[in-house]
Amino acid sequence: MIESPLLPKLTGYIGGRWSDAPVGDTFDVYNPATGEVVARVASMSEGEVNDAIKAGKSALRLTQPYSIETRRKWLEDIRDALKANKEEVGRILCMEHGKPLKEAQGEVDYAAGFFDYCSKHIQALDAHTIAEKPKDCTWTVHYRPIGVAGLITPWNFPIGMIAKKLSAALAAGCPSVIKPASETPLTMIALFALMDKYVDMPDGMVNLVMGKASVIGKVLCESPDVPMLSFTGSTEVGRKLLIDTSEQVKKLALELGGNAPFIVFDDADLDAAADNLIANKFRGGGQTCVCANRIFVHEKVVDAFSEKLAERVNRMTVGNGLTEDVDLGPLINKAGFDKVKRHVEDALQKGGTLVAGKQPGDIGDGHLFFPPTVISGVTRDMACSREETFGPLVPMASFRGEEEVIEAGNDTEFGLASYVFTADADRAQRVAAGLRFGHVGWNTGTGPTPEAPFGGMKASGIGREGGLEGLFEFVEAQTIPRGF
Ligand code: ADP
Repeated sequence: MIESPLLPKLTGYIGGRWSDAPVGDTFDVYNPATGEVVARVASMSEGEVNDAIKAGKSALRLTQPYSIETRRKWLEDIRDALKANKEEVGRILCMEHGKPLKEAQGEVDYAAGFFDYCSKHIQALDAHTIAEKPKDCTWTVHYRPIGVAGLITPWNFPIGMIAKKLSAALAAGCPSVIKPASETPLTMIALFALMDKYVDMPDGMVNLVMGKASVIGKVLCESPDVPMLSFTGSTEVGRKLLIDTSEQVKKLALELGGNAPFIVFDDADLDAAADNLIANKFRGGGQTCVCANRIFVHEKVVDAFSEKLAERVNRMTVGNGLTEDVDLGPLINKAGFDKVKRHVEDALQKGGTLVAGKQPGDIGDGHLFFPPTVISGVTRDMACSREETFGPLVPMASFRGEEEVIEAGNDTEFGLASYVFTADADRAQRVAAGLRFGHVGWNTGTGPTPEAPFGGMKASGIGREGGLEGLFEFVEAQTIPRGF
C-alpha cells in the first residue's frame, strides 16, 4: 500500500473537508508495473455527488464576484504548491499510472504551467467597454462564471488534464466538482491535499468525487445546478455526454480521441524526425491522444527512416517507472495491453513487416510491459490504421505525393494532433492547411503547452484548452448596453 503525507484520506473532498460519510463501496487502485493494489479508495454515492454540487453552488458568487486578485492568488498558490511538491506528486503519479518517474515529475511541472499561465493572463477576463456607442448606448461586456462545472478527467495525464480544466475554471470564478479516472485517483487526492493545506479558497470551490463513472456522470448530466461539463476521454463517452446533456442544453468542452498522422517527406531531416517521433510516440507508454498513431513516410526515404527508428527503438528500456533510466513503463491495464497486441497481430497477419520489437507470441503473459514495436508496410485496412492503438506501436506506411498523404492523414473521424516533417516551408503551410487537425507540429513532435490553445476538430472534440481561448472556456459573455 502506498503511504504519503499527500494522501491523508482516501475519500472525496466536499465543501472544504474530506468526506467522512460511512465508507461503503470502495475500489482498488493498482500499480500497473507490479500488479499490486496500492490503495483502496472510497466510492461516492449519488447523494454525495449531489452534496458536492450543493457545496459548489454555495461557493458561486454572482452579485459580489471574487475579484481578479483573489482568483489570481488561488492560481499562484496552486502553482507554487505543485512546484514545491513535484517529487512526491510525481512519485504517486508514477505508482498508479506507470510512466517513468522523471516523466511523471515533468507532468507536474506541465500542470503548474497552466495555473501559472492563467494567473498571468487573468486580466483578460476583466469587463471592458466597447469603443463604439451604437444605438445611443454605452456597451459593456462582462465575463461571468458559467456556474458549477463538472470536470471529468482520464488516467493518461493524472495531473496534467485536471490542471488544464481547473486553472481555467478558477480563473473564471467557477466552483467545480471533479471526477478523476478510477485508475488514477491518488494524484487527484494529492492535489486536493495540497489545495487544502496551501490554498485559501472558499469551502465548496473545489470538490472531489470518485467511484462509479456511470453514477457520477448521471448526476452531473442531470443536475440543473451544473451548467457545464468539461471532459477529456474517449469519443464514445463524449458522445454519451452530448446526448445526456442535450435536454438541458449544457455547455460541453470535450477533448476526445485522436488518431494522429506523422508525415515525413523526402526532404526532411530524418534524424530529427526519428528523434521527435520517438519522444512523441513513447510518451506515457504511447497512451496519449496526441501520440503519433499513423506514420506516413515518403517512399524514397522509408528504408532509411526505418533503420533510424529501429536503431533508436532497440536501445529503449522497458520497466517499472520508479527504476532509474527506464524509457517506457507498463500499459495501464490488461485491456490496454490486449489492444496493442491485437493491433500488432493484425498488422503482421495482413502483410506488415516487423522492423523492431518482438513477435506477439514472444512477449509473455501476466504483466503489462509491451516492447516498443515498429511495423512497416502498413495499409489502411489494418486495425492500427483505423483505431487509436494507445500503446508503443509505430505503424509505418509509405506514400508518394502531397495530395495523397493529406487525404490519407484526414481519413479518420478524428482531428486532434498531427505532425509534418519537411524542409519546404510552402509545402508545410499547404499540408497544415489541408490537415483537419487542431494541432499540426511542423518539424516537431511536441504536444500542447499552457500558452497556446489546443483541441480537436471533427470527432476529437469541442472547445480549446490552454492559451487565451482556454481561459475563456468557463465564462459567459454578458453584454450590458446602458441607455442613460
Ligand atoms: P479512457 O478510455 O481514457 O479510460 P473514458 O472515456 O472511458 O476514457 O474515461 C475518461 C473519464 O470519463 C474517466 O474519468 C471515466 O471514469 C469517465 N467516464 C466513463 N464513463 C462515463 C460516463 N458515462 N459519464 C461520465 N464520465 C464517465
